[in-house]
Amino acid sequence: MKMISVAEATQIVTQQTPKLPSEEVELQHALGRVLAEDVVADSDLPPFDRSQMDGYAVRAEDVKCAPVRLRIVGESAAGRGWHQQLEEGQAVRIMTGAPVPAGADSVQQVELAHELKDGTVVELLDVVEPGKSIVRRGAEIQANETVLNAGTTINAAMMAVLAAFGYAKVKVSRRPRVGVLATGTELVPVDQTPGQDQIRDSNNYSIAGYAELTGAVVERLPLAGDETSLLKRQINKAAEHCDVIVTSGGVSMGVYDLTKSALKELEAELFFERVALRPGKPTVFARLPNGTLVFGLPGNPVSVSVTFSLFARTALLAMQGASEPALKHETAALAKSVKGTSERESYLPAQLTTNDDGQLIAFPLKWGGSSDFVSFALTTALVIVPADVKSIEAGSLVKVIRLN
Ligand code: AMP
Ligand code: MG
Repeated sequence: MKMISVAEATQIVTQQTPKLPSEEVELQHALGRVLAEDVVADSDLPPFDRSQMDGYAVRAEDVKCAPVRLRIVGESAAGRGWHQQLEEGQAVRIMTGAPVPAGADSVQQVELAHELKDGTVVELLDVVEPGKSIVRRGAEIQANETVLNAGTTINAAMMAVLAAFGYAKVKVSRRPRVGVLATGTELVPVDQTPGQDQIRDSNNYSIAGYAELTGAVVERLPLAGDETSLLKRQINKAAEHCDVIVTSGGVSMGVYDLTKSALKELEAELFFERVALRPGKPTVFARLPNGTLVFGLPGNPVSVSVTFSLFARTALLAMQGASEPALKHETAALAKSVKGTSERESYLPAQLTTNDDGQLIAFPLKWGGSSDFVSFALTTALVIVPADVKSIEAGSLVKVIRLN
């Protein structure tokens, strides 16, 4: 099978990824989920003419000259308004967030007024313009306006929007169920001390972390070693209830790289198995006969992070109907020169900052290759070097993707 570009691979992933059904969740469980419905305002916002200040609701007409004295005829507090008609020469004491009484067209703030005669009269020290310190009904949002679109990932601020318009239950996409499976005879679980020639499995933890950050529910499968029959059994079993299985290791050209043969024996359809990418060339994307998608990521921990972020993350978000499933390209100035490679696009670890002019700057990190996952832990972005570009000088503009 031929090597394809990252862009082609990403396109295949989005094309082959079906959408999951939606479900209703209670609002308090909606954070981080992808909206499966448009959110529509059920009322104007504000729902009434609202005072922006503590002060006095008046007719601007009466306060054309200052100082001027007006008779206090009532009080309008938030949640307990004054619902009579304000007449000429009158003022209503008003609080922030309270409804402005009919007849009043402006609010003078409390700092520019003082009360006299036991609070029956107010002296306003400055003139007011009509409309001052009032947010008109519907000025922010009008009833029936769409305030959030389906495909949006719900953040904390959006929780307030949902609450304000009465979405006690929210229609969101079902969470993808992701099985995480590490291959490699050298691996021992995290609670064990590695013996001779052994290392602890770390990929299952980064993969699970990334998957959970995209809204997935993760199932950790037992370590699979390097045995095709065991691999097949575990994949088959996980496929019964997983939407996606993410494996790591066993996809290179070594004698013990058995993930692809296991998938083939399970009659999976392989969409790609080599991407023109550094790190992460031997990345596999396949579908099992029952529809479960499989990402066969390389074993090196850095390759895992890069290929998960480029491909598996995209699938998990596309499944949930996210409007922007793939990580966006941004442009940054390079702080240090970087080297590319022939035939493959490089995705190099970097940190993003801004300079005093507000320009985005990418600092490439020193790293020891695709096994250097300790350095990679400080990475906030990847610098993209196009295939066949030998090097890019400091100061040049480059494409970057922000990791999350
Ligand atoms: P492989 O692609 O299976 O040849 O693995 C490439 C490298 O990644 C080897 O050095 C493996 O030991 C390492 N590796 C594979 N799987 C894991 C894992 N789950 N956790 C940490 N390192 C791993
Ligand atoms: Mg291996």
